[in-house]
Parts: sequence; C-alpha cells; structure tokens
Amino acid sequence: MTAAKIIDGKAKAAELTAVITAKTKKLIAEHGVTPGLSVVLVGEDPASQVYVRNKKRTAEACGFNSVQHTLPADTSEADVLKLIDTLNSDPSVHGILVQLPLPDHMDEQKVTQAILPSKDVDGFHDINVGRLSAGHIDKAFVPCTPAGCMLMIEDQLGKDLSGLNAVVIGRSNIVGKPMASLLLAANATVTIAHSRTKDLPAVARGADILVAAVGRARMVKGDWVKPGAIVIDVGINRIEVEIDGEKKSKLTGDVDFAAASEHAAAITPVPGGVGPMTIVMLMANTLASAQRRAASNG
Ligand code: NAD
Repeated sequence: MTAAKIIDGKAKAAELTAVITAKTKKLIAEHGVTPGLSVVLVGEDPASQVYVRNKKRTAEACGFNSVQHTLPADTSEADVLKLIDTLNSDPSVHGILVQLPLPDHMDEQKVTQAILPSKDVDGFHDINVGRLSAGHIDKAFVPCTPAGCMLMIEDQLGKDLSGLNAVVIGRSNIVGKPMASLLLAANATVTIAHSRTKDLPAVARGADILVAAVGRARMVKGDWVKPGAIVIDVGINRIEVEIDGEKKSKLTGDVDFAAASEHAAAITPVPGGVGPMTIVMLMANTLASAQRRAASNG
C-alpha cells in the first residue's frame, strides 16, 4: 500500500469559510440580517480562552456579529442562566455557545439545556440530539466536530456509505455518539467502540471508515487500520517530544499517523485535520440559524 492521501482540513475549512462569507453578504444585502454569535466563557481556563478567541476571529472573518461574554469563575449558575435568558430573547443573536468545561459548581446539563434549541449552534440541547438520532438532520443543529468529520468523509466516499463498515472509537455525547448517528444516516454499518470494548484492534480492523475520538495519544496503531480505510483522527493530545536535546510540547492525535498512513487510503493529520473543520461548522450552524430567522420573517 502506498502512503495515504492526507486530508487537508485547513484547506477545506478555508474553502467553506469563503462560501459562508459570501452567503453572509447575501443575507445581509437581501434581508438586512447579520448572523449573530454569542459566546459565553466562564473562568480563565487557558485552552478555553484559545478556543473562544479562534471562534471569535473566524466569526468576524465570516462577517458575523460576534460577542464574547466573559464571566469570572465564581459567577453563580443563576447568573449564567440569566444571561442565557437574555440572549435567548435577543433577536440579533442567532447562535449561543457556552464554552465547556464550566466551573465545578455549575451543572453543565442545566446550562446547555437552557439555550433555546433554535439558537443551540453547538447541537447539545436534547431537542437537537433527539432530532439527529431520529435522522431529522435537516431540522437539527449537529455538533460541530462530527459534522466537520462527516464532510471530510463525504469528500472521500460520497454521501451514500451503503455497504461500508464504520467504527467510531469513543462514545461521548459531543463526538462519538453524534458521529455514529451521522454515519448511520448515511447508510454505513456502524459500530461504536469504547473503553469497555473487547479486542479493540480487531474491531478497528473491520472498519472501512475509522473515526478515533478518545483522547489518548497515538493509541490507534498502524496494524489496526484496514488497508484502504479512511481514517479520521479527532483526538487532540499534548505530548512532550525531544527536539535537538530540548523538551518541547507538541499536539498529536489518537492515531499513530506515520504507521496508519502506510495502510489507510486517506487520513486526517493533527493538527490541521478535524480541528479547523470544527470551527467552521460552528459558523455554518450560526449562518443556518440566521437564514431560518430571515425566512421566518418573510
Ligand atoms: P471524552 O473523554 O468525553 O470521551 C472519550 C471516549 O473515549 C469515551 O467514550 C471512552 O469510552 C473512550 N475511551 C477512553 N479510553 C479508551 C480506550 N482505552 N479504548 C477505547 N476507548 C476509550 O472525549 P471527547 O470529548 O469525545 O474527545 C475525544 C478526543 O477528541 C479528545 O482528545 C478531545 O480533545 C478531542 N476533540 C477534538 C475536537 C476537535 O475539534 N478536533 C473536538 C472535540 C474533542
């Protein structure tokens, strides 16, 4: 097997950003509606600050109104819920995102469920989760990471995955489960594997489409990959490497990229694969929300 094609998530995300920017201009010109994205950040988690900054930057590049609400870590849950209430009833806000994780004294479920389903651009509200698992994808906001993965899979294999085996490693509500729902809706035969799965390498080897969303650096070895498979690496892990005798920190995925590339037909790198697609799907969801609002205004 020759080395795999590298799926360039950064380039795909840039293409999609250009399309979203053009559609935003059209929406503003024809309906006077500017997509509005409100991002709520509670506390000072450094990774969350980076994610929120990137989201704001991309939203602005698309021509959205982007407002960041930064609250101190000791903000009460009641105050966060009050802010969400205000954003829910603000017609200029089409998308609301509460950056996770929240501080320990808050109930994440309660906070995410307080967002109106029609503004829930992260796709975490039970209404959107239900629509996705019922296969009503057009009516749902689909969580951004699996939505981005799905676009990259479609680019390689088309929209109909009939007859193909997909294995998703990881069963989180944010990635694994919605990823499996999307693959199932595209007619793939789907297996969800997780920490309690017996003989994970053998399960993975059955996959024409292998999605790794675990959070363990290079867990998926080269010989877990079926020759010709499409490999989507969602994991983001920070590891220490030694370069010229100096210890440096580096991002790596859940897949042993070099070894897996020897077997796969196509594979996403980390960084530069799933990550950039996740942000752009948030923009796509926000634009869709604004378009729905404009259509309902007539
Ligand atoms: P999570 O911790 O909620 O879920 C991890 C899943 O992996 C669990 O379902 C668990 O059962 C499974 N798991 C753990 N150990 C395992 C093992 N040894 N064998 C098989 N399965 C095992 O994580 P998450 O939120 O789904 O995120 C997963 C990874 O994806 C993380 O590295 C995260 O940083 C990354 N992530 C990336 C993006 C992106 O934009 N690229 C977005 C979200 C998450």
